[in-house]
Amino acid sequence: SEITRENVVREARERNVKFIRLWFTDILGTLKSFAITIDELEDALDGGMGFDGSSITGFNAIEESDMIAMPDISTFKIIPWSPKDAPTARMICDVRTPEGDPYVGDPRYVLRRALERAHEMGFDNFYCGPELEFFYFKDSSAPEPLDYGSYFDLTTLDAATALRRDTVLALQELGIDVEYSHHEVGVSQHEIDLRYDDALSMADAVMTYKTVVKEIATQHGVYATFMPKPIQNQNGSGMHTHQSLFSNGRNAFFDPDDEYFLSETAKQFIAGQLRHAREISIIFAQYVNSYKRLVPGYEAPVYIAWSRRNRSALVRVPLYHPGKEQATRVELRCPDPAANIYLCFAALLHAGLEGIEKGYELPEPMERNLYHLTHEEREKLGIQSLPEDLGEAIKEAENSELLHKTLGDHVYNRLLQLKREEFEEYRVQVTPYELQRYLPVL
Ligand code: GLN
Ligand code: MG
Ligand code: MG
Ligand code: MG
Repeated sequence: SEITRENVVREARERNVKFIRLWFTDILGTLKSFAITIDELEDALDGGMGFDGSSITGFNAIEESDMIAMPDISTFKIIPWSPKDAPTARMICDVRTPEGDPYVGDPRYVLRRALERAHEMGFDNFYCGPELEFFYFKDSSAPEPLDYGSYFDLTTLDAATALRRDTVLALQELGIDVEYSHHEVGVSQHEIDLRYDDALSMADAVMTYKTVVKEIATQHGVYATFMPKPIQNQNGSGMHTHQSLFSNGRNAFFDPDDEYFLSETAKQFIAGQLRHAREISIIFAQYVNSYKRLVPGYEAPVYIAWSRRNRSALVRVPLYHPGKEQATRVELRCPDPAANIYLCFAALLHAGLEGIEKGYELPEPMERNLYHLTHEEREKLGIQSLPEDLGEAIKEAENSELLHKTLGDHVYNRLLQLKREEFEEYRVQVTPYELQRYLPVL
């Protein structure tokens, strides 16, 4: 049935909902929430609920801190683990100014603007299918694994089978479709893949997913983390993102006559993401720790190239299966699951659209294992690398017109300021590594 204001109110009453949690995200992608009682629901649906935005990271300073959370009626869902005698629902909100305009600091609005650009260019849908990886640890004080399983391991080795099952069931109760779940390569590392959806719904689903994974872990007395690289000698956690653009219900990335089954549009889109990867790196890999994942030897990309088979490339185009036109897609492998998902999808889309609009040319695919090329071989082939650390990513971002356009003045300036502070704090650390390496010999 269609979701209307009336249906939401009726469902809330029928299911005896007592509270509604209003969700939105800050600039770093942290979920923020406040609860209203059922008696406020109708007012909230009509005019939104006011809140003080001054202490939300990346929002406004104290002088202009009145904000409105405007619930999106399509996101009303009962929280599966809320008490049965006092069910709580959640709704995801757009943030507005007191005048009712979209708030420029709202990451959801940044994604809405990116989607608008796609619509103006004739694309009705930007579909995203992210593969979020994460670790379970005994608690948050140290990366102590629950199991020593590896890729696709099962049963006794995989202490998390019950955890994953409960997580998938909770996701389904929240209306989120799951395609795969399995043990990942790293010890105590797991992956649950959602069925692709339009970028805005998917971004909302990812916010929900991360909350569910952490919540179910807590219920089982363990800790789940989306930290990109918690253990030095193990794979990090990535968020490979499968993407496609549709026009009039057809996959604009598919061309039956091309040797790779890719349309010109798809090739230009990939070329855009490759060309702009360095300057939007601060979005898909936003933390100091993100760059510890993007190193050779751990199935994470380092070099800026595309491929069909080779998983060391930044972009992989999964092999085409006859009859599966709709599934033709581009897998970008650099994002990690600690990214702000709204800003991440927005930046990926703008980079791809830039390639389409300006008609970028796609270089030849690189089917060799890029980790095995020497520095000289890469130079000769003209293969660039992703930024090596957050400092380099910040410099790229500072010179990026595309990023500025993607985020708008407010988010662009706030984010860069936050990231400069973060990197400065890191840069002045004297680490155990340095003491071990230098103190005895210098
Ligand atoms: N964990 C790897 C990464 O950092 C991906 C591993 C995989 O899914 N094959 O991206
Ligand atoms: Mg996967
Ligand atoms: Mg994986
Ligand atoms: Mg993948």
